[in-house]
Amino acid sequence: MFYISLWLSKVYLFLTKNKMNDKAGSLALKLDKNFYKHINKPGIVIAVTGTNGKTTTCNFLVDLLEKNGYKVTSNREGANFLPGIAKALMKGVNLFNKPKVDVAIIEFDELGSKKVLPLIKPTYVAVTNLFSDTMKRNAHTDYVFSKIEEGLPKDTVLFLNADDLISSQLGKDNPKIYFGIDKLKTDSKVNHSLVQDIRVCPKCYTPLEFDYFHYHHLGKARCPKCGFTNPTPKYNLTDIDYKKRTITINKEQYLLVNDGLFNIYNELLAIAILKEIGVKNINESLKTLEVVKTRYNKIKVKNIEIISQMAKGQNPIAVSRALDYTKNLEGKKEVIIILDDVYDQKALDRSEVMSWIYDSDFEVLKDDNIKKVIIGGFRAYDYKVRILMAGVDEKKIFVSPLEVDTYKYLDFKNIDKIIIIHDIYLNKKTNEIISKIKDVLE
Ligand SMILES: [Zn+2]
Repeated sequence: MFYISLWLSKVYLFLTKNKMNDKAGSLALKLDKNFYKHINKPGIVIAVTGTNGKTTTCNFLVDLLEKNGYKVTSNREGANFLPGIAKALMKGVNLFNKPKVDVAIIEFDELGSKKVLPLIKPTYVAVTNLFSDTMKRNAHTDYVFSKIEEGLPKDTVLFLNADDLISSQLGKDNPKIYFGIDKLKTDSKVNHSLVQDIRVCPKCYTPLEFDYFHYHHLGKARCPKCGFTNPTPKYNLTDIDYKKRTITINKEQYLLVNDGLFNIYNELLAIAILKEIGVKNINESLKTLEVVKTRYNKIKVKNIEIISQMAKGQNPIAVSRALDYTKNLEGKKEVIIILDDVYDQKALDRSEVMSWIYDSDFEVLKDDNIKKVIIGGFRAYDYKVRILMAGVDEKKIFVSPLEVDTYKYLDFKNIDKIIIIHDIYLNKKTNEIISKIKDVLE
């Protein structure tokens, strides 16, 4: 049955021109219940999970490996459950089930660990971080932690974030490689974010003492009672030079791909994995690496920079990072926010939980360099209340129930940048807004 499932799913993939769906994988699994057992995997399987950054890390890994001559299969289209992963593995073998790639890069959902990992038996599992996420699905970081833990095969090597005292505790008996970012000039002794997912020692419950925070709970802390502290990173990023656009990891310089600290973590993790599997010319391949344009895009029209950033809605950390990044950009700015949670609207059996916006750091919009905040979409008034409560001057806030019309509220005068923060499902509308802005400016 296996070969029939392999061949038919390959035919299906061919006929549907490899469109962005996981139906070919569903078909394979339907035809052979033991498809995962039968399919041959490449020599290296790298599985990536975590609250934020898993898709970007996977994209970085695929691009960098391919630029270095490796043959790679992946589920980078974003389907990170069993059918999407089956499709990726199916694409990695020929008609005779012989692997035709060197590496598989597999993104998997944190809650899918128990189902996915025993089936794909990864060489490495990388966890970017663990934060509060969509409340309905992910409940609490302890819950997600336990879900990842129960799927980890004992001999798999883990890549863990040393600055994250939650996810770095995964895999008690697994071999582990840590990556981390040293104290930075931009760090602070106090946490400026609303969400801090770990405050007390997980061993003895004494309040932790933090030396510094990068953001949220990422940073360095120790327990004054039992000495619990961050693990020592093997891949230690010690310097970020935004002007020269370099980062220093273990005294070696690498090109900086994107200046958001959350993306620097993704780059650091990708470099750590590449070093571990012996890739030589990492810097050469970094020259042409970028964050995919649907997630981050920057263009300049008549001296005004237009930056669009994707932020996963219902995820207070992703939205806080996008807001913080916006605040830290140089110059005077107008900001458009379109975060509709449209996905939930479509499914009638789901109700939207808007409480997460009270966990997101909208307070940074008070910054004097942010001249206007324009909110679009049918949830715009919810955001307006939240932003008013953050202390932003009402004169700065504008509401447009239609996302695409947000551009009409832009002043364009005396500003250097327009920033659009948008949800995963709003790429098309974001592009429409950008083209309207271009029309006005040109
Ligand atoms: Zn302790």
